[in-house]
Amino acid sequence: MTDPAVLELREVHKRFGATAAVDGLSLAIQPGEVFTLLGPSGCGKSTTLRMVAGLEEPDSGEVFLDGKLIASTRSCLPPERRNVGMVFQSYAIWPHMTVFENVAFPLQLRGASKASIRERVDNVLELVGLGGLGSRGATDLSGGQQQRVALARAIVYEPKLLLLDEPLSNLDARLREHMRVELRSLQQRLGIAVLFVTHDQAEAMVLSDRIAVMSAGRIEQVGTPAALYERPATPFVRDFLGRVLTLPLIVSSEDCAEVVGETGVRVELPRGAPAPLRGGRALLACRPEDVYVEPHALPGLNRLAATVETAAYLGEHIEYGVRTAGGQLLLVISPRRQRFDLGAAVSVRVDTSGATLWSGE
Ligand code: ATP
Repeated sequence: MTDPAVLELREVHKRFGATAAVDGLSLAIQPGEVFTLLGPSGCGKSTTLRMVAGLEEPDSGEVFLDGKLIASTRSCLPPERRNVGMVFQSYAIWPHMTVFENVAFPLQLRGASKASIRERVDNVLELVGLGGLGSRGATDLSGGQQQRVALARAIVYEPKLLLLDEPLSNLDARLREHMRVELRSLQQRLGIAVLFVTHDQAEAMVLSDRIAVMSAGRIEQVGTPAALYERPATPFVRDFLGRVLTLPLIVSSEDCAEVVGETGVRVELPRGAPAPLRGGRALLACRPEDVYVEPHALPGLNRLAATVETAAYLGEHIEYGVRTAGGQLLLVISPRRQRFDLGAAVSVRVDTSGATLWSGE
């Protein structure tokens, strides 16, 4: 028999007045997995998390923790009786307590002995890199350290599941990138399952085993970061995760299409994509790393003639705005060492093997 999911939601709904905040959501998180809800502001991520925590009750549907029903229309287990740890955007650590007291608090609530509290708090502080700082006032710490206190407090009683609601968003950009990796490494050492909420796609991709992309209270697609990026199921997922460059096409054969508005430009269709019928319209969506600016303007197969209109130096690479002969403006990234002058005649080459094909848009 396979282990039950650590967390399972079945057809969960939650309305606030006229707003369907969560609209028939189902998911299952496996042991040791980091599962992320990713989506724009207001799509229902936090409401979902709050229903798992017990801070909101679902209007309908069921929530199971470790195979046990913890929320349904009939009954809801209060938050303190759900074995889940939580870290929020505002770390909500207690300013008048020391680091040790903050982390010890959940154990005291659960009636642990003094000796066991000392041992477990010391262990967990060591684990999050705060060993020796137990007697510090909780607010005499940097933002990153306070975030670790909140994390230590959430995991000290060894919950089945850790809920993280944008826990890194109050940190500055550099520390946030560092903490992402730290958090991932800590999670892997602990082997704890995590439900993570963020609107930051880079953060989601670094931390997650699987991501559910949400829009308007519903899940659009669930998959690994690579599957979502390379094989998006909907235009929303395609455009939300990373950048895309799109070209309108008219399909001319089973494996080839003409680019609309660009004289003499054809592209190979990606293999395996169900192409629309001959003569049908479609949209080719390419990731920026599959598009190249090259120093000769020769339109042809997978190649558009263009002129450089703008150049932005971004350090890692240069972003060129190029105007195609047919008048489309494309934003293309190029290695820093390859420079083009404004007004230069170039061609834009597209490697379509990793592109996706969309009809009906
Ligand atoms: P954010 O990233 O901004 O936190 P979110 O994806 O977490 O957004 P939710 O906070 O779950 O979204 O909100 C989903 C929808 O439900 C939004 O339209 C929001 O305005 C609404 N909503 C959430 N909580 C309440 C509430 N307590 N009362 C009324 N409406 C609410």
